Amino acid sequence: REVTADQVHLALEHDTNPFTNQPHTAQYKKILKARKTLPVFAHMAEFYKIFNKHQIIIMVGETGSGKTTQIPQFVAYSDLPHIKNKIVACTQTRRVAATAVAQRVADEMDVQLGQQVGYSIRFEDMTEQGTTFIKYMTDGILLRESMHDPELSRYSTIIIDDAHERTLATDILMGVLKTLARRRPDLKLIIMSATLDALKFQKYFAVSSDALPPLFKVPGRTHPVEVFYTLEEVSDYVEDAIRFVLEIHCTEEPGDILVFMTGEEEIEGVCHSIKREVKDLINAYPETVGPLECIPLYSWLPPQEQQRIFDPAPEADSPDGPPGRKVVVSTNIAESSLTIDGIVYVVDPGFSKQKVYNPNTRVESLLVSPISKESAWQRTGRAGRTRPGKCFRLYTEKYFMSELEEQTKPEILRSNLVSTVLMLVKAGIKDLVEFDYLDEPAPESLLKALEVLNHLAAVDDDGNLTTLGSIMADFPLDPQLSKMLIVSPEFKCSNEILTITAMLSVPSVWLRPSKKQEEADAAKLLFAVPGGDHLILLNVFNKYILNQHDKDWTWIHYLSAPALLQAVNVREQLERMMARFEVDLVSVQDQSEMSLSVKQALCCGFFMQVAHKVGGKRNYMTLNNQPVLLHPSCRLDTQPEWVIFNELVVTTRPFIRTVTGIRPEWLFKYANLYFDLRDWPDSETKRALMRVTKKTTGRSGARINKATRGGESGE
Ligand code: ADP
Ligand code: MG
Repeated sequence: REVTADQVHLALEHDTNPFTNQPHTAQYKKILKARKTLPVFAHMAEFYKIFNKHQIIIMVGETGSGKTTQIPQFVAYSDLPHIKNKIVACTQTRRVAATAVAQRVADEMDVQLGQQVGYSIRFEDMTEQGTTFIKYMTDGILLRESMHDPELSRYSTIIIDDAHERTLATDILMGVLKTLARRRPDLKLIIMSATLDALKFQKYFAVSSDALPPLFKVPGRTHPVEVFYTLEEVSDYVEDAIRFVLEIHCTEEPGDILVFMTGEEEIEGVCHSIKREVKDLINAYPETVGPLECIPLYSWLPPQEQQRIFDPAPEADSPDGPPGRKVVVSTNIAESSLTIDGIVYVVDPGFSKQKVYNPNTRVESLLVSPISKESAWQRTGRAGRTRPGKCFRLYTEKYFMSELEEQTKPEILRSNLVSTVLMLVKAGIKDLVEFDYLDEPAPESLLKALEVLNHLAAVDDDGNLTTLGSIMADFPLDPQLSKMLIVSPEFKCSNEILTITAMLSVPSVWLRPSKKQEEADAAKLLFAVPGGDHLILLNVFNKYILNQHDKDWTWIHYLSAPALLQAVNVREQLERMMARFEVDLVSVQDQSEMSLSVKQALCCGFFMQVAHKVGGKRNYMTLNNQPVLLHPSCRLDTQPEWVIFNELVVTTRPFIRTVTGIRPEWLFKYANLYFDLRDWPDSETKRALMRVTKKTTGRSGARINKATRGGESGE
């Protein structure tokens, strides 16, 4: 009764697709040939031997060996989820990986994406109930599902992919699944990882110390990669990366290039420069310099664009002309989530954007930080997929040896845990410190998170979920945003706050091409409204709707059409959720009244992200006394004494971005618990807040404290 590899091979070679009963297409046969060359494919028999016998498997296989694309299909032949009305889930740590891989596997299985094979990422569900039986989903989405259905009863097998990345959601999920596996002996788990620290996962999932779950190890098949370091420290890695790409293109053998950059703006900038410079080079040396296709890859790239990374390199311009080459400029996504074949050269500046959280300042930000040695080796490995390759590290060997950490710290140790703790509390996990973590976060971080949730009125003083908190947990938003949205009807501006929330949940709508910065800034001015950036976002969205989603209109105004379209979509989804939880949709008609209401609602969610003006131009100080500057993109017409900001970004210096002026009295009114100044150590900020309380009440801050709890009870 148990499936064997021979049976599966027969089914794969059969003329009829067992899942659709349609004849297999030519494309299917072509892809099958490629699949057969994958290391994982060669180990199918061994896989079934282990899978048929064990509930939990730890799997290790090098990036590109076929884990993500093949294993869920192998499982499907054993579980037969399409017959049993179950689903095989495979988590991904990144949205792009989930969408790109789902598309690939749909092609491999000769089915339509969204039918038998689908994906689910935040704000986008590409599955069909009752039809989809292989589901790629972000780890965050599965964690969210486990909150509503703790048994995860729809799934026959759950595959945690790229566990070595140790994202926050993956770590928590493993804890949840570990306990669930004991309750549900019929549920199978596969933990997949690209690095060799499998023993850690084996021990974690062990029932007892002498009963480790089996390790299914697929040997890699990589070619040697020569590593080069720079002789001196690099001052501008972006410039240097561009220079290396051009040099490789002009002097090295054919073979594609992969360049690691840290974010969208950098990536678009690099692509732009490379395109321009190659054009000049080709004009100057048409005999020796071939065409170069430069393709960006980052997380919010529209799906059609994503698939371009898999296109073959461009052909030579003439039959005997110099050969073409492909350059992919990518974030960390290409480090281990997505494999691009044909890469022979890797350019690694040694940086990535990483979440950094300081529990004392309570600010989480994405910081461009040095990668770990392990990451550097992963990146290097990308060059040896098809034949021997070269990796150019834009740092010195000494720097590599002495400055880089061995491994990237698990995200759980460097994240804001507020959102996660709210989910755990909602899932009924009472003792957060006792939860079975793979790596335990500091108890203080958990307590701080609970404290923030308490300030947001999501949990009460005893750590129990409040009604508000329960609704907040159901919204796929950060607790600050969901709090603001849910209380906004009390300020009669839920319509507006809903729009702002949607705009804050999508990538930036502002385009600022490097050659048209002045024009873009001028266009942005057209949307200026008094008050601040949040209100400008609202204005942009409303104008976009007035102009009926017109692409030309967005183009003239330097706005991102995909981001705006996404905002419309997110808004609709959140609106449906609001209806479900009976959060009224209301608007204030009067413009200045509306603006006041919006700012007050903002205070209910973001009272911890407040700064006040100190000294000269654009200088502010956060509640934790960190000096910050208004980001150059801020379009605040005046510079109010007190502002609320959406994010703190650190580039050359710490900046606050998306900023709106507020009245400090509101902080005491809507977050009195947090602003109980008696507990605050003496500081410049505390004194500034004391002056506010004196001015407004003539009394000390301590009195205000007795007022009702903010937000929840409204005005
Ligand atoms: P792993 O998960 O072990 O890193 P994958 O299953 O992601 O490996 O990749 C296996 C192979 O499938 C790789 O050679 C990769 O290039 C190929 N592949 C994956 N997605 C696509 C796609 N969308 N188009 C073309 N090839 C793809
Ligand atoms: Mg993979």
